[in-house]
Amino acid sequence: MIQLVRGFKDILPPETSVWQSIEDTARRHFENFGFREIRPPVLEQAALFQRSIGEHTDIVEKEMYTFAGSRDTLLTLRPEATASVVRAYIQHKIYAADPAARFYTIGPMFRKERPQKGRYRQFYQINAEVFGVDSPYMDAQLIYMCMTFFRRLSVSGLQVHLNSLGCPECRPAFREKLSEMLAGRAENLCPDCLRRLEKNPLRVLDCKVPACREAVADAPSMLDFLCDDCGQHFRTVQAALADMDIEFQIDPRLVRGLDYYTRTAFEIQTSELGAQNAVAGGGRYDQLVEMLGGPAQPAIGFAIGLDRLVELFAAKFPAPETGPEVFFLPMGDAARKRAAKWSSQLADAGVRVEADFSGRSLKALMRRADRMGAARVLIVGRIYIRTCGQVAEK
Ligand code: ATP
Ligand code: MG
Repeated sequence: MIQLVRGFKDILPPETSVWQSIEDTARRHFENFGFREIRPPVLEQAALFQRSIGEHTDIVEKEMYTFAGSRDTLLTLRPEATASVVRAYIQHKIYAADPAARFYTIGPMFRKERPQKGRYRQFYQINAEVFGVDSPYMDAQLIYMCMTFFRRLSVSGLQVHLNSLGCPECRPAFREKLSEMLAGRAENLCPDCLRRLEKNPLRVLDCKVPACREAVADAPSMLDFLCDDCGQHFRTVQAALADMDIEFQIDPRLVRGLDYYTRTAFEIQTSELGAQNAVAGGGRYDQLVEMLGGPAQPAIGFAIGLDRLVELFAAKFPAPETGPEVFFLPMGDAARKRAAKWSSQLADAGVRVEADFSGRSLKALMRRADRMGAARVLIVGRIYIRTCGQVAEK
């Protein structure tokens, strides 16, 4: 028998109903905040991700599903959605009419990571992206939208971790200071971090290897290096969040796995999922639109890990099996013909039906109706119809 590919999974009913209800809630909630849905494809040119996420990130170095397309182009199954949304924003000149635009998208992402609980090779995200707004109040509103979405789902126990990654003005000095310090402790770093030290020292702050964590325990903080504008921006985000009653923790170790972030970076964490504790992450990427060939427009966004969210949600609210409202139980061929027509018409009228055409005995079918949790059974005979319970008038 041909089995699933490792790291991929089937999402089966009744769990699919949990996914549907979370997605419906996201759509309604985000649209209230002025976001509209965008659906980019899952396949893009590899160069899009190499240029945006950064050559020296785990994602680009080792996690992408990339293969040859036609005419020497390399194609990649998207590992994240932001780059695609930015590409669409530029390609369709969405900025021309009004650069301020808000989008959300829901769909699968692909990363060749080591599969484990809460970590898959095809996983799902809910993304929100805002273009053309540089105000720190936007940062606060976006975090508010994310947290109130979780609140709507009654998912609690989440903490907002907040940091500022500065900008091209102030980050280089921090980077240099950090590199200097890390170079003095190179012998304590893992092989991955030794490579990062050269190309991307900020990522060392994020390494999960205990020896590396220890090595950066007293590392300098980006927050001490922020330029006046970045400092002011960060303080305003904090004041706005406090004003909106959103609790947060400043986390100077927080860097993100993608190079394009600037200024505000945040992660929403839970203590209920073990090692895979990040439920959502995001931040500003004020240079990315221009970097990908568009006009200079600031932007900010986040991604929620839907698989992990479903896990949190389903632990509290297991999906109920919803049985049919009317179970048609036809006796004989003429009755089956009638049951086929009537049940179809009733379904079309908005009633959840099930009709059993198997021709098995009354007893067997009653048992099945019971197992499915049918609210009513409609026995269709040759000359009379008997109803048990009431058929709703619809
Ligand atoms: P992590 O630190 O857990 O690897 P990340 O920083 O790589 O997360 P992002 O790229 O910011 O994650 O994606 C946002 C969210 O998507 C994460 O917070 C997480 O909930 C989810 N996510 C990321 N990678 C996976 C994966 N392989 N399987 C399931 N969910 C994932
Ligand atoms: Mg990751």
